[in-house]
Amino acid sequence: MGNKTKIAIQKIKNEDVKTSVFSALELINAKELMQKENMVVLLKPNILMGKPAERGVNTHPEVVRSVIQWVKQFNPSKIYVSDSAGGQKPGITETAMKESGIQDICEEEGAICVPFEKTEREIYKVKDALELKEISSSRLIREADLIINIPKIKTHWQCTLTCCIKNMFGTVLLANKAKTHAQAAILERFCSALVDIYSISKPQLTVIDGYYCQEGQGPSSGDVVKLDIILAGYDGVALDTTVCKIIGFEPTEILYLEKAEEKKLGTTDLESVEFLGEPIESVFRQFKRPKLKPISMPLPKWLADYIGKTIFKASVKFDSEKCKLCSTCWTNCPVNAITPPAELKKGNIPKWDNKKCITCFCCVELCPHEAVKFKLNYVKNALFSWMGLGCIAFLAMIIVLILWILNL
Ligand code: SF4
Ligand code: SF4
Repeated sequence: MGNKTKIAIQKIKNEDVKTSVFSALELINAKELMQKENMVVLLKPNILMGKPAERGVNTHPEVVRSVIQWVKQFNPSKIYVSDSAGGQKPGITETAMKESGIQDICEEEGAICVPFEKTEREIYKVKDALELKEISSSRLIREADLIINIPKIKTHWQCTLTCCIKNMFGTVLLANKAKTHAQAAILERFCSALVDIYSISKPQLTVIDGYYCQEGQGPSSGDVVKLDIILAGYDGVALDTTVCKIIGFEPTEILYLEKAEEKKLGTTDLESVEFLGEPIESVFRQFKRPKLKPISMPLPKWLADYIGKTIFKASVKFDSEKCKLCSTCWTNCPVNAITPPAELKKGNIPKWDNKKCITCFCCVELCPHEAVKFKLNYVKNALFSWMGLGCIAFLAMIIVLILWILNL
């Protein structure tokens, strides 16, 4: 079979998830990745929101447990299970981790369950960027010896499918997801952004949760499909292409796959895949497509960039009652957007430079006294942008014109 990339497909029989995960990983000989001693392993499941496992929204906790147990055989020094949930409210990922059942299984298995936004930040430069030149994310992505992507098979109202490539959007922190959506408002540009985001981590191994999936109006309000399969492989693009074949979608419908292949992140050519375990035909199940049409504003690039950077810009606020002027925020800001006040005395607060800030949320997460909060104020941002001021000026002119006409 030469240099073909391996993909294993296994059925889940009698709810025995562990056997399926272990045999899929054995079929592709994944233990070859575990040769180093004391490895730091990062698992990236899909933890979108606090929903029970059987609703098919988040990666099933038993799939995460099985991957942890498989990794534990090789005596790693640390296993992290991380994601950044949908939404922008601080604490939202912790809630999702708890209510999805994933935090509990991490505690039982001795893995560290931590939201990406609670870890140290790092700015990643994107090589041959299609849309995003740099991405603010977790330092774990660079520090991990091995990243295992554990996505779930779901339809997605905007991208049609969410699985391997789309799952790494969770490495973008909280409100920065909204900013990315705004900046890349056209679907084509959003798919380019997804490929850039995937490229900074490019997980070496993927285990796909095809246990409880979603069809139709996924990724959170679709109908549950108990597909009962596990896939394992190394090439996320080839795996997403395989999932398309299993659920009856054409890979060409999924815009980010072509872009990912162009960026040399993997292949959509299933002739270059060595399939192991169950054949695709034996696990085929036609999925309903999402009916919603994606909201995709055909804005010129400069306008979309402008809106993304202004209207969706989070503001950092300091609480003068809580701030102890401990210096943590200004010494840890990666772009020096925070400076100490002129005088270090109680009641004064650090200064924040809106123009320099890249909304990495480090200051919010690291402040030991919970004295930093971030806020996304769309209306204020819009009003105080050049676009808002232009609109106000235009409205004022219309009112003046009407009054002038009435006076005549
Ligand atoms: S980290 Fe918190 S307490 Fe320390 S200076 Fe900054 S805002 Fe104040
Ligand atoms: S001010 Fe805070 S959110 Fe902005 S870049 Fe600095 S640490 Fe990050």
